[in-house]
Amino acid sequence: MPPVKSLIVVFDGLRPDMVNADLTPHLQAFQAAHARFPLSCCAFPSETRVNAASLATGCAAGRHGVVGNQFHAAAVFSDRWLRTAVREDLAAADAVLPGGLLQVPSLGERLAAAGRTLAVLSTGSSGSGWLLHHRAETLRQLRWSAQGAAHSTPADAWDAIERRFGPPPAAATPQTARIDHATTVLLDYVLPVVDPDVAVLWFTDPDYTYHYRGIGAPETIAALRGVDAAFARIVDAWQRMPDRDQRAIFVTSDHGHITNRERVDLLAALRCDGFSVDTRAAGDADLGLVPGSVSALGFRRRDEGFQRAVVDWLAAQPWCGALFSAGRDADAGVLPGTLNRALLGLDSDRAADLLFTLAHDDQPGDGGWPGGGLHDSDLPDAGGNHGGLHRREMNTVLVAAGAAFRAGHVSPCPAGIVDLMPTALHLLGLPADGCDGRVLGEAMIGGETPACRTRRVAAAAGRHAHHVTVSTAGTSAYVHGGGRG
Ligand SMILES: [Zn+2]
Repeated sequence: MPPVKSLIVVFDGLRPDMVNADLTPHLQAFQAAHARFPLSCCAFPSETRVNAASLATGCAAGRHGVVGNQFHAAAVFSDRWLRTAVREDLAAADAVLPGGLLQVPSLGERLAAAGRTLAVLSTGSSGSGWLLHHRAETLRQLRWSAQGAAHSTPADAWDAIERRFGPPPAAATPQTARIDHATTVLLDYVLPVVDPDVAVLWFTDPDYTYHYRGIGAPETIAALRGVDAAFARIVDAWQRMPDRDQRAIFVTSDHGHITNRERVDLLAALRCDGFSVDTRAAGDADLGLVPGSVSALGFRRRDEGFQRAVVDWLAAQPWCGALFSAGRDADAGVLPGTLNRALLGLDSDRAADLLFTLAHDDQPGDGGWPGGGLHDSDLPDAGGNHGGLHRREMNTVLVAAGAAFRAGHVSPCPAGIVDLMPTALHLLGLPADGCDGRVLGEAMIGGETPACRTRRVAAAAGRHAHHVTVSTAGTSAYVHGGGRG
C-alpha cells in the first residue's frame, strides 16, 4: 500500500448524539458513508488537554503524564496547580519535570524521526495547541494557533498566513468565525503549500459554546451548524483532490459534555468538617486539593488511619461518585474501598493519592439533552461541563474515511482517541508500536477485528457502592464510564 497521509479534525466536546441530520447534516452523512466507532472513548480524565496529549502520543494520561487539565506538580509551582490551558505553564513544566512534560514520544517527534511532517492548526487554548505539537519549534514544523503569533511557529509561516488571510478573528460565542478562518488556512495554505504527512485541525466549538451557553442553547445550535459547515468545505475539497486515495480523514471529539447541576464547594465542605486542606501543590495542611469533575487529593499526612478517615468521609457524602487510588491488586486501590486508578489509565507518579468523581445522573439537562452532574468550577449552573466519568463525558465521536477504510462500516469494538496516532503511523507505513492505542484494523480493508471484552468493576467504601466500566480491544484498554452504584 502506498503511504497515506492523514487529516485529523477534532470537534472539541462534540457529543455523539448531537451528530444528526438536523444539527450536523454533513458530518452525519460523512459518518454514515465511512467507518464509525460508536463505542469510542476519550482518555480519562475526560478533559481537553489530557486528550490533546493522548491524541499527540497515542497514550492514556498515566503514560503521557498530563494527568489532568490542572494538576499539582510541586517541582514546577509549589503554591498552585499547573494550568494546562496556559502554554507558559506547560513550557515551565517541560523545563523542570524529568524527561519533560510528555513522558513518551509524540506524533510530531516520531514523524520527524522518519523524515515526515506534522502540521497543527488550533482554535483552542494556547496550551491545547502546544500539546498537539510540542516540539514544533525545534523540528521547524508548523503549529498555528488562533491565540496569536507568540503561540505559533515558525514565525515566517505565521507572517505568510497573516499576509494572505489576515489575522484570526476575535474570540466570540460561538467561535464560528475563527473556525472558518482556520479551515481556510488549512485548505488554501497548509494542504497545498506545506503538504504535511499528518495534519491536525482543532475546532474549539462546540465545547466553548456548550460551556458558557448550555448544551441546548440557540448559540450552541449555531456553533454546531458552524463547525458542520466548515467540515463540509473540507470534505468537498478532499473529494476533489486528485490524490484522495492517498489521503485519509479522521473525525474525533476529545470528550463529551453533560449539564452542570449544582456546584459543590469541595474546599469549603472539607474544611467545614474539620479537615486541614489547601489547594497548594506543597504546604503545611494535611491535604492538597485540586477540585473538578474529577478531584485530586494529595495526602501530606501519611498515617493510615487519617487516610482511611478521608475515604470514609468522602464515601458518606451524597455528592461523591467513584473513588480511586494506586493499585493494591488489578482492580482494588491501596486505600480500602477504592478502585485501582490503573483501570482509568492513570497509573502515574504524577496522579494524586486519591481521585474521586462527583455524582451524576442521566435526566434531561439543558435543552432536554440527557446527562447532568454536580460540579466544582466557575462555569455557570446549566452550562455544559466534562472531566468526570459520566458515559456521556467519556463517549466520543470517531470516524475514519479514505481508501484504506471500509465504507458504511460500524465497528463492534471499543476504540478511542489513543488509536488515531498508531493508525496514522500505520497508514504511512511506519511502526505503530509503543502506543496504548491500536491500529483500527477492524475498519480497514483486509484488516482484522481484535478480541474485545467489556467488564464492570465494582467496589464499596462502607455503604457507598461505586464502579467503573472498562474494556479491551486486543491489548488496548478503554474507559466507558463509572460512578455511584
Ligand atoms: Zn475539549
